[in-house]
Amino acid sequence: MGIQFFNTYSREIEPFEPMNPPRVKMYTCGPTVYNHAHIGNFRAYVFEDLLQRHLEARGFEVERVMNLTDVDDKTIRGSRAAQQPLDAFTQQYKSAFFDDLKTLRIKPASAFPAATDPRFIARMIEMIDTLMQRGFAYQADDKSIYFRLSKFPDYGKLAHLNLDELRPTGRIRNDEYEKESIGDFALWKAWDEADGDVAWDSPWGRGRPGWHIECSAMATALLGPQLDIHCGGVDNIFPHHEAEIAQSECCTGEKFVRYWLHCAHLMVEGQKMAKSLGNFFTLRDLLNKGWTGRELRYALISVNYRLPLNFTFDGLAAARSALQRIDEWARRLADLANLHAGEWSAANSELAIKFANDFLAALDDDLNISAALGHLFESIRESNRLLDQNQLTPADAHELLETWQRINSALAFEPDVAAIPAEVLALVEERKAARAAKDWKKSDEIRDQIAALGWEVKDTKDGQKLSRKQS
Ligand code: AMP
Ligand code: ZN
Repeated sequence: MGIQFFNTYSREIEPFEPMNPPRVKMYTCGPTVYNHAHIGNFRAYVFEDLLQRHLEARGFEVERVMNLTDVDDKTIRGSRAAQQPLDAFTQQYKSAFFDDLKTLRIKPASAFPAATDPRFIARMIEMIDTLMQRGFAYQADDKSIYFRLSKFPDYGKLAHLNLDELRPTGRIRNDEYEKESIGDFALWKAWDEADGDVAWDSPWGRGRPGWHIECSAMATALLGPQLDIHCGGVDNIFPHHEAEIAQSECCTGEKFVRYWLHCAHLMVEGQKMAKSLGNFFTLRDLLNKGWTGRELRYALISVNYRLPLNFTFDGLAAARSALQRIDEWARRLADLANLHAGEWSAANSELAIKFANDFLAALDDDLNISAALGHLFESIRESNRLLDQNQLTPADAHELLETWQRINSALAFEPDVAAIPAEVLALVEERKAARAAKDWKKSDEIRDQIAALGWEVKDTKDGQKLSRKQS
C-alpha cells in the first residue's frame, strides 16, 4: 500500500499521486495576526507539519506556503484600538507566531507571504480584474466587488452543501440589498470609515481585498495554478476554501487543488477552542504553567487529525510521561550501544526493521498517528524486555536507535537541548584553567558554584562534561 489520504472533496480515501513527483506543492492557511495564535490553531499547524515531515521521510520534496493574514476586519479593528499603524500592530504577532512555531518544532514553510505585500496586492487586483472581465464578478451599489456565485455551479462541492440552502430569502435580500445573491462574497471591499488609513488604489476605487482572494492570489502566485495539497482546519472548508476554489478556477481555468486535507478541531468541554468563545490557551499560557513546547506538540499530534481532540491538562501530563518513557528507552539503548562502540557488526535487525515498516505504513494510511505511536510503544516494550534480560546486543541497540532517529524525523520528539547559561560556561572555563594548574581546591570550589546554579560537572577522559542537575 502506498500513501493515501482522505480527500475532503471526494469524501474518500485516495492514493496520493502528486503532479510532479517527487515534488509536492502544499498550501496551508496561516494565522490572522491580530493576536497570539491559540493552541487550537496550532493543532492545525502541527498536523500540517506531521504531513510535510512524513512526506519528506518518504522521499518527497515538499514546497509549502503558509500565508499571514495581516489585513482584514480583525487586524484593522485591533490596530485602531491599539492606536498603532496596521503594519506595526501585526508585526508583533508575526514575530510571536514565528517564535511559537520554533517552540513547537514546526518546520518553517518555504514561504510565509503576507497579504499586504505590494506584490500580492497587485496579484489580487489582477485576479479580480480577470474575474470582472469574464463576468464572474460585479461591482455593487456599495462600490465593492463581489463574486457572482450563480456563474460557478461547482460552488458547494467541497463542503457538500446544497446550494439551494444559500438562495436568498426575502428577509435576507433586504439586509443584503447591495448583492445580487446572498452567497456572493466580497473580492474587494470599498473603503469605509472603519478602515482608517488602510486602503489601496484599484481600478474600482480605493479599498482592500477580501480574505478569500488573499489566499487564492498568494497560492497561485507562489505555487502555480494547481496545488497538490491544500490544508486547514474544518472551519476553513466553508466558506473560505469553497471561495478559494471558485476564484482560482474561474481565473486560471484549471482544477485548483488535487487533495484537500482538513483537521478536526481542538475542543474544550465539547466546544471548539476559539478566540470568540474565550475558552482558549496560547502557547505562552502553557509555557508559563511549566509545560514545554515538546509536550504540547506530543499532545496535539497524538490524536488522528480527523478526530476532534479534547484539550485537558491530564492529556498534557500523559504526553509528559509518554515522552519520559521514550527518553528513558533511548538512553538505555544509547548506553548499551556506546559501551561497546565499534562492535556493531552482527545486528539482528528484525526488531528494527519491523518497527520502521509498521510505523511508516501506519502514517502512510492517512497519517494514522495513533497506530504509528502504538507501534513505537510496542517496540519500546519489546526492546526494554530484551534489555532487562540482557538479550539485546549492542549492535541491536545501535540499529534500533538509528531507526528511532529516522522515525523521529516525522515526530520531532527529541529532548530539548538545555541552553547552558553564559555564567556556567565561564565557570567551566575557569575550572579548566584551575585543573590545568593542578589547583584541586579551586577546582572543587568552582564545581560547587556550578552545582549551586543547577548544573553538574563530571570529569571524564575527554574533559569536563556538563549536565543539568537532576532534582
Ligand atoms: P484563523 O487564524 O482563525 O484563520 O485560523 C488559523 C487556522 O487554525 C485555520 O486553519 C483554522 O482552521 C485553524 N483553527 C482554528 N481554531 C481551531 C481549533 N480549535 N482546532 C483546530 N484548528 C483550528
Ligand atoms: Zn486561506
